[in-house]
Amino acid sequence: MGEPHPDPAGLLDRLRTVVGPAHVLTDPAVTGSYLTDWTGRFRGHARCVVLPADTGEVSGVMATCAAVGVPVTVQGGNTGLVGGATPTGGEVLLSLVRLTDLAPVDRVSGQVVAGAGVRLAVLQEHARAAGFEFGVDIGARGSATIGGLVATNAGGNKVLRYGTTRAQVLGLEAVLPDGTVVSRLAGLPKDNTGYDLVALLAGSEGTLGVITKLRLRLWPLAPARAVALIGLPDTAACLALAGKLRERLPSLEAMELFHRDGLELVRSHAGLPYPLPGPPDATLLLVECAGRADPTEELMAALAAAGADNATIASDSRTRERLWAYRERIPEAVNATGTVVKLDVAVPLDALVTASEQIQAAVGRAAPDARAVLFGHLNEGNLHVNVVGAQGREEPVTAQVLEVVAAHGGSISAEHGIGRAKPRFLPLTRTAADIALMWRIKQAFDPRGLLNPGVIFDPQVVEGLTGRPGG
Ligand SMILES: Cc1cc2nc3c(=O)[nH]c(=O)nc-3n(C[C@H](O)[C@H](O)[C@H](O)COP(=O)(O)OP(=O)(O)OC[C@H]3O[C@@H](n4cnc5c(N)ncnc54)[C@H](O)[C@@H]3O)c2cc1C
Repeated sequence: MGEPHPDPAGLLDRLRTVVGPAHVLTDPAVTGSYLTDWTGRFRGHARCVVLPADTGEVSGVMATCAAVGVPVTVQGGNTGLVGGATPTGGEVLLSLVRLTDLAPVDRVSGQVVAGAGVRLAVLQEHARAAGFEFGVDIGARGSATIGGLVATNAGGNKVLRYGTTRAQVLGLEAVLPDGTVVSRLAGLPKDNTGYDLVALLAGSEGTLGVITKLRLRLWPLAPARAVALIGLPDTAACLALAGKLRERLPSLEAMELFHRDGLELVRSHAGLPYPLPGPPDATLLLVECAGRADPTEELMAALAAAGADNATIASDSRTRERLWAYRERIPEAVNATGTVVKLDVAVPLDALVTASEQIQAAVGRAAPDARAVLFGHLNEGNLHVNVVGAQGREEPVTAQVLEVVAAHGGSISAEHGIGRAKPRFLPLTRTAADIALMWRIKQAFDPRGLLNPGVIFDPQVVEGLTGRPGG
């Protein structure tokens, strides 16, 4: 488990009593994958990895750790990109992957109840088999858990149509740092009885409570799909086309932006052929439409009307998936080149062109020999900035890019959260009053700072604002 840790008050034995000896892991050969994040940038150490089976056991683990005063880091599928699920200082690592109960879809309400450890792909299949869609999709669907998606308020490919993960959550059950269980699972779309704790826990990155169960909204199945990959001269042309498609296509579900550098990285990483009928363009837009009736013709007509003729269109699932691969495999292709600084920002659409140029220039200033690969979800002005070759200069690269974003009134974390990667940058886009209020909320849930310490809040930033230690 990295460094040896004292075992205060027989913590390991007490945890074994709660979850069973087989579910308290200490062997480094087994725990290694829990202690390193997907990017390889964050590595930690923990006293042990604990895998409870249900809410009762999660409650027992939290109460036990609280009694001994040992902090806990929460983990779902460990696909998060800001280090939030990686322990740093010898916490207990609480993994939710055994909470996999999945109830039958309630067809009348269009809702389903899922354990926090259910993988996104499993939930998607479960919903489809019952004639529904789940409104969230991300490239990490095979590993990311529903609890992690809700804890990070994940965005992804379908925000344009269905909103972020928070908009899919109608209820949840969570365990507070002292082991108390709070449950709001009735699934009432209308319920204004006091504060909306469900919405607050969504996006709280495991700093307020451990989410154990979710009641989720489902949407009518849209089984007929068409995907177009379009070559365009630049980002401004993508924005212009996006506006025209939005006007004409009620079936529009996704609009993904990337550039030729990302395309070429994926092609050489995955051995994929050049995908467009015409010569290479600088920028690519991937568009997906979905409905009950086949949207291929309306998509083709909309592209023709907009004069977007360097396009490949696919309706069958295999070719659609192949086109998506050019966009979805960019993170994997970039990762294969080495350790990557991953930033996830958003700017207002009217600033997207300028901000993209300024971000490239900012990376050039901070690390002249590094290069930034930009791609993202066009509708939300959400750019993933993946910087390759900036080892040793992660901080200045991050600072320079985030300052550009803040200057445009953007978000320094559009999707992935703040985690342990970005707490010190919070003041760029949140006022002192705002951060102090968030810290008071954190203290109300977790007065002893036992849950996901170091996530969202930088001790120095908090101390500077409140005059009291923030660690
Ligand atoms: C290839 C790839 C593509 C991705 N694409 C997208 C994308 O398009 N959009 C997007 O938003 N993200 C994306 N991500 C990031 C990541 O998949 C999401 O953040 C996802 O929601 C994390 O889920 P997880 O189960 O892996 O959570 P983890 O990584 O295990 O945890 C993430 C955070 O949530 C907390 N947490 C996890 N489970 C719980 C719980 N049950 N209760 C309380 N807190 C919890 C953790 O402590 C941590 O702070 C991508 C990642 C990869 C690797």
